[in-house]
Amino acid sequence: MDLASPDVRALINRNPLAVIPIGSTEQHGPHLPNGTDTFIAELIGQDIASKLDGLYVPFGPYGVTPIHAEHPGTISLKRSTFEALLTDIVEELTFMGVETFVFVNWHEGNIPSMDAVAYTVQKRLGINIVTAQACYVAQRIYKELGGELTHGGGIETLGVMAYDADLLRVERVTTATRPVGAEELDEMRRSKEVYGFVTNVVELANDGWYGNPHWAKLDDVSTFSEKISSEVITLVQAARRARKIAQSR
Ligand SMILES: [Zn+2]
Repeated sequence: MDLASPDVRALINRNPLAVIPIGSTEQHGPHLPNGTDTFIAELIGQDIASKLDGLYVPFGPYGVTPIHAEHPGTISLKRSTFEALLTDIVEELTFMGVETFVFVNWHEGNIPSMDAVAYTVQKRLGINIVTAQACYVAQRIYKELGGELTHGGGIETLGVMAYDADLLRVERVTTATRPVGAEELDEMRRSKEVYGFVTNVVELANDGWYGNPHWAKLDDVSTFSEKISSEVITLVQAARRARKIAQSR
C-alpha cells in the first residue's frame, strides 16, 4: 500500500512473491482489542515479507468468525465473501506477475476457506501457494515456556503487546471461567480424527475468552515477531523446496 506503482513492478520483477496476512475482527474479552488476530497477522506478515524481500499485501481486517457472532465488535464475513475476496486479490497479483503466495494466518476459523482458495486458484492459475498457520507455530514455540494459544489468553496478549502495548487493558484482566467439559471440547475440536463442531464460543468459555493473559511479559515483546516469522520462513522454504522436488520428478 505504501509503494508507488513502479516500485511494485520493480519488486515483483526482482522477486515474484507476495505475503498476505489474514486475521479476524472479533471480540477478545474485555482486555484485548477486537482486531487482535488481524494486528498479529499483520505484524508477523510484514516481518516475513521484508525478510523474504517479497510484496506485502494487506487483506483487510475481516475473517470468517461466526463462532463469535452476537458479541459486540465481531464482524464476520460469510465464507463465500471471504473466498471471493481472497481469490480476487490473488488473481490480480498473478496478472501483475506474482508467482508465489504466502498466506500468513492467525485465526483458526479461516483455515477451511483459505485452503479451499489455495487449492482452487493454484490449480487454475498455475501459481504456488503456501499457507502458514502462524498461530500454531507460535503455540509450538511458546509451549515450553508455558504459553498457551487460547482465545484472549497468554500468547494473544503477548502478540497485542508486541503490536501496540497501549491496546492491552491490563486492569480489566480477570480470571476466566470455563464450562464443565470445555477442555475436552477444545481437544476434540482440534483433533484430526473424530470431532464435533463448536458453533458458539460460550461452549468453550463463559465470558468468551480464556487463558492467562498475565503469562505475557514485556521482556518477551521485542522477540515475538522475530521468533515466529523466522520459524515460519524456515517452514515456507521447506514447503517450496518439497514442491519443486516433487514437480521435477
Ligand atoms: Zn484471537
